[in-house]
Amino acid sequence: MKLLEPVKVGGLELRNRIVMLPMHLGFCENGTVSDRMIEFYRERAEGGAGLIVVGGCTIDKHSAYWGMVSLQDDRYIPGHRRLTQVIRDLGARSCAQLFQAGRYANSKYSGIQPIAPSALPSTLTREMPREMTKADIEEVKASFAAAARRAIEAGYDMVEVIASAGYLISQFFSPLTNQRQDEYGGEFENRTRFGEEVIKAIRCEIGPDYPISVRLSGNEFMQGGNGSLEMARFAARLEQAGANLFSVTGGWHESRVPQITMNVPPGAYSYLARTVKEAVNNSQVIACNRINDPVIAEQILIEGQADLVGMARGLMADPELPRKLEEGRWHEIRKCIGCNQGCLDAIFVGGSCRCLVNARAGREAQTRLRPVERPKKVLVIGGGPAGMEAARVAATRGHDVTLWEKEVDLGGQLELAAAIPGRQDFVHLIDYLEDSLVELGVKVETQKEADIGEIKRFGPDAVVVATGARPIMPDIPGIDSKNVVGAWEVLAFEPELGKKVVIIGGGAVGCEVALFIARMGTIDADTVKFLLLNEAEPVERIRELAQRGTKEVVVVEQDKNMGRGIGISTRWIILQELARMGVQLRPSTKVIAIEEDGIVVSDPQGRTEKIPADAVVVAVGSKPENSLYEEIKQAFPETYLIGDAKEPRKALEAVHEGFDVGNAI
Ligand code: SF4
Repeated sequence: MKLLEPVKVGGLELRNRIVMLPMHLGFCENGTVSDRMIEFYRERAEGGAGLIVVGGCTIDKHSAYWGMVSLQDDRYIPGHRRLTQVIRDLGARSCAQLFQAGRYANSKYSGIQPIAPSALPSTLTREMPREMTKADIEEVKASFAAAARRAIEAGYDMVEVIASAGYLISQFFSPLTNQRQDEYGGEFENRTRFGEEVIKAIRCEIGPDYPISVRLSGNEFMQGGNGSLEMARFAARLEQAGANLFSVTGGWHESRVPQITMNVPPGAYSYLARTVKEAVNNSQVIACNRINDPVIAEQILIEGQADLVGMARGLMADPELPRKLEEGRWHEIRKCIGCNQGCLDAIFVGGSCRCLVNARAGREAQTRLRPVERPKKVLVIGGGPAGMEAARVAATRGHDVTLWEKEVDLGGQLELAAAIPGRQDFVHLIDYLEDSLVELGVKVETQKEADIGEIKRFGPDAVVVATGARPIMPDIPGIDSKNVVGAWEVLAFEPELGKKVVIIGGGAVGCEVALFIARMGTIDADTVKFLLLNEAEPVERIRELAQRGTKEVVVVEQDKNMGRGIGISTRWIILQELARMGVQLRPSTKVIAIEEDGIVVSDPQGRTEKIPADAVVVAVGSKPENSLYEEIKQAFPETYLIGDAKEPRKALEAVHEGFDVGNAI
C-alpha cells in the first residue's frame, strides 16, 4: 500500500508516509526533554512511524510556555540528542518544530509582554502585545535560525516552522492581525515577507541538505482572513524561499470552525492539502486533521491529494498502527476517536496528555504489561468500557477471563454516546474492545445477570465489578407522569416524543440528548450534497433543512452554566450547534413541577412560568450501580470496583481504571 511506501523529502528518505505530527504533550519541565517524553516517542518510533515531528520547541524568551520543550539555548541540545538517537535507532526520522506564538504568547509563562506584527489584543489570552520594531523582526529571524542550527546539532533530520493556527508567522500574513504600514504590512507580497525571510534565514543557517517543513493553515477560517487560495499562494512563496514540505492543517485557534473534534468528518481537510499541493512545484505535502483510519489515509494518497499523511492523535491512540498495517493486523488497530478527553482538553487546563483509548500513553515506562506466571480465573461483571478494558488487559497477560453482561450488547454507555450526532466514533472503541476480547479468547456471556449464588458457583479467583451507573430520577412532583422519559431511554430506543420537548438538566448528557432530538427530521449530508449539486433548492433553504428539525427543544438547567462536564475543546462546539439548531437554553432555572402538558419552572427572581411540552426528558446525572459489591468482596477477597460503578465519571477514567486493574490482578 502507498501509505507504507518510502518517500523522499528533499534528500531525506523516510521509510513510509506516516508522520507523527507535533503535539503539546506537557511532559517537560523547564523546556528540557524528559525521560517520559523519550519513552513516549520510543514507542511511536518502534511502532513504525516514518517521521516524528517533535514540538513545538520554543525558540526565544517570548514563546516560553509551560510544559513545552525548548531549543532557545544550547543547553537544551543534549536532551534533544538523547531523543533523536532513540528515534533514529528505531528506524524513524525526526524533525523539530520551531515555535513562536506572537500575540498568542502568555506573559504568565514568559514574564514579558508578547510581541506581534501589530498591537492588537489576543483573543486567547486577552493580552495586548507590543508592535514589533525592525530590530525585533531581525531578532526573531535570528532566533529561528539559531534554534534550527541547535536542532541539527542535536541530531534532527529536519526542522519545521510553525506558520499555522494564528501564531506569529500567520499573524504577519493575515490582514486581520497585520496593520503595519511598512514593508511587512499591506499588500500580499509585504505580508508574506516575514515568513519568507524566516525560511531564508533558516536555510542560510543549516545549508541546502536538510529539509525545511512549514506547518500551514490551509485556510484561516476567520471572517475577513486568508482563504485556501491565499494560503496556497503563500505556500508557493515559502517554497521559493527554501521550504521542502508543507504540513497542512485547518484554521486558527480562535476560529469558530471545528477542526479537531469528533464531529469533523475524518479526512475532511485533505482538500486543503490538495490546494497547497496544486500550488507548489517540488515540495511534498502532508494531509492532516482527523485522519484516524488507514483506509482514509490510503485513499488520500492514492487520489493524489497529498504525499504523506499526518497522524498525531492517531499514533497517540495506537503507536503500533504502522507496524500493524505492515503485518496485516488491520483489525487490531485502536483508532483515535477525536474525543480530546485525555489530550487537548488536559493541555487546555494545564495538565499533560493522556489518551482515552490508550491508557498507556504518557506513562509508557510504568505500564508495560507483565505476563502472568500463574494464570487466575477472572470474572468481570459488566461489559462497558471499564469492564471490557479490564478483561482485555487481564487476558492479554495470560489470565483465564470470563465477562458477564446483563444487556444484549457490550459497550454500556459508550453505545448511547455513539448515538449522539457528532459522537459516532465511540463505536470504534466498542469495536476494538469487542474484537480484542474475541481474539484473546475471553468468554463473553451477554444477557447474563450476576447474583452472588451464581458467582459462587462460578468460583473465580478474582472478580472485577464494573456494573456501571443508573440514571438519577429527581424528586420533583409529577416525575412519574407518563410524559416523562429518561435521556438514556431516548438515545437507546428513540420513543415518540411529540413536537415540544423539554429536557431537565443542561449538563453533558442534557445538551447532547438535546442535539440528538433537535436533529430529528433534518436532511442528511448526502441529501445536502445532492440538492446542492443539482441546484434543486436555494442554498439558504438547504441550510435551513440541514439545521432545523421537526422538534421544538428547550433545555432547563439549574446552574448558570450550560454544558458542564463537556471538555473545553468540545463544549463551545456543542453550544454553537445547539444555537444553530434553534434549541432554547434556559440556565439558572429551577423545575418546580412536571404536569401533563409541560413543566413549571422558576427563575432566580422567583418568577414562575409554565413551559409547554409533549415530552419531558430527564438528564440530571447518574449514580453508581454496585449493589452486589460488598457481598462479592466478602466472599472473594480479590474483588475490584471500577468505572462508574465506583463513581460516575468520564469514559477516560473508566478505561484507565479498567487497564490498571487488568494489569494488577
Ligand atoms: Fe484521540 Fe481521544 Fe486519545 Fe486524544 S484522548 S488521542 S482524541 S482517543
